[in-house]
Amino acid sequence: MNRRELLAAFLGVPVALAACRSNVGPSFPDGSIVGASDGIGHKLRDGQRIEPSPDNWQRAGVVIVGGGIAGLTAAWRLMKAGFEDFVLLELEAAPGGTSRSGGDSPVVPYPWGAHYLPTPMKENGALVALLDEMGVIEGRDEKGEPMVAEQFLCRDPEERVFYKGRWYEGLYLHAGASHEDIVQLEAFNREVDKWAAWRDRRDRRAFAIPVAKSSDDAEVTSLDRITMGEWLRERGFNSPRLRWLVDYACRDDYGLTVEQTSAWAGLFYFASRMRAPGDEAQSLITWPEGNGRLVAHLYEKARARVRLGFAISEIIPTGEGKDAGVDVVALENDGRSAVGFHADRVIFAAPHFLTKYLIRPYREAAPPHVAEFQYGAWMVANLFLKDRPASVGFPLAWDNVLYESPSLGYVAATHQRGLDRGPTVFTYYYPLCDDDPRAARRRLLEANWKAWADVTLTDLTRAHREIRALTERLDVMRWGHAMIRPRPNFIWSGARRAATQPFRSIHFAHTDLSGIALFEEAFDHGIRAAEEVLATRG
Ligand SMILES: Cc1cc2nc3c(=O)[nH]c(=O)nc-3n(C[C@H](O)[C@H](O)[C@H](O)COP(=O)(O)OP(=O)(O)OC[C@H]3O[C@@H](n4cnc5c(N)ncnc54)[C@H](O)[C@@H]3O)c2cc1C
Repeated sequence: MNRRELLAAFLGVPVALAACRSNVGPSFPDGSIVGASDGIGHKLRDGQRIEPSPDNWQRAGVVIVGGGIAGLTAAWRLMKAGFEDFVLLELEAAPGGTSRSGGDSPVVPYPWGAHYLPTPMKENGALVALLDEMGVIEGRDEKGEPMVAEQFLCRDPEERVFYKGRWYEGLYLHAGASHEDIVQLEAFNREVDKWAAWRDRRDRRAFAIPVAKSSDDAEVTSLDRITMGEWLRERGFNSPRLRWLVDYACRDDYGLTVEQTSAWAGLFYFASRMRAPGDEAQSLITWPEGNGRLVAHLYEKARARVRLGFAISEIIPTGEGKDAGVDVVALENDGRSAVGFHADRVIFAAPHFLTKYLIRPYREAAPPHVAEFQYGAWMVANLFLKDRPASVGFPLAWDNVLYESPSLGYVAATHQRGLDRGPTVFTYYYPLCDDDPRAARRRLLEANWKAWADVTLTDLTRAHREIRALTERLDVMRWGHAMIRPRPNFIWSGARRAATQPFRSIHFAHTDLSGIALFEEAFDHGIRAAEEVLATRG
């Protein structure tokens, strides 16, 4: 490694921070920390409240809290039903939450979080309808499965992996694999096939997208009691390459290592994306700006009813029975003025842990399930490059993974545009997988821009020696509560089910209610919560 053992394996040790502070060593590009208003979040957590003045109260049928995928989807569903008496309030200056993207590069837009979704199967009718509306689907095959237009399918080559000085095609490291490695890979694929074929007595898949359509049969849910690492060991899977592949999948989708992830979630990653045993995984849909394209579409539909830069500070259920309602107070982003809404219903589409700060009765005594919702921290950096770095071995792909790094590597935004030369934007992803999520958040927030820029550039220098010289700007996003953590005994513990139930006139929608962070899950909860509200109106 080195540059002080890769900044003490990503700033775990104070020495690494000191090295960055002293700024001895390499030069740095321009850049800054962007987005994710943790300042206002901490004020809300610490109980900062402002009462709206009496003339600053309005009426709304429904207030949607949060303009991520779940909140925007709820708005989309309400509007599809012809219901427009709602307002959506979003804390940040831009919509999209963890699916947000950036548009200020003259070369290409780029993601700040979510960057793809697998092609949905025909059973996911609501999502197929959204993609139809966006013109992403161009027809159905003979089995009625949606067919995605070529330009939205991830372009080849999709993935490559860097190992000991060279890039190789694909994600599984075939080069140098032993006979035993291949035997184990095939045996693992047979296990996944078995689960892709499995159906319960009600003909439900073991692992379906959305999770709400998965079987709750004990044969499947018992997998949630052990880690994916234990599951691999129980079956004698000890091939380092296979273990790496599964660990990478867990870090990539859940921000957890193979030893921290529930075996249910680990197998969900592989089996839910496969239509039938032996099939390829569903093809990936992507755009240069990642799922920012989906955000833009949903936002455009609801724009007139969305208010950006409004942080909900309090939600107060009022009245009973036919007089039931809910008051909502929001701080404007200057943090000094407040506006209030008397609403019939609220759709709470922010992360569930916030309920204990924002819903008044929860603040006084939060139900026990709230404490079960734990979130991992991620650092994402966007590097604006004046030219491509050279590659030894396989050429640049969409997803470029470093085998020997705790990071996930990077995605190239220009790939989907078919631009294979000249300037580009690389989006670099690093999940902080500490056992204690608070320790991870501390590590994330204590390191400044220069420290994270140094981590990113030093890590990428392993594969691209000239990366520092080519990087003109490097911006950093610190996601403190990036993803719900599907650790053992969470997904099927009952906490999720309890959290999904409405509380008085408040309905809940967020990807965390599935126990995993995915576009499809946020979308599904947005639809469900909107339909719950519509059902109350007869
Ligand atoms: C780095 C990263 C990469 C990812 N990659 C993928 C991917 O490739 N594919 C995929 O499917 N998923 C990915 N995800 C998961 C992603 O979280 C989901 O796809 C989805 O965007 C979650 O949407 P959501 O609406 O449930 O939650 P969020 O994105 O958390 O949205 C919640 C919204 O509520 C707002 N809010 C919070 N508090 C308040 C308040 N007090 N007042 C008003 N508003 C408030 C927030 O600002 C936010 O906009 C990724 C996530 C991260 C962090």
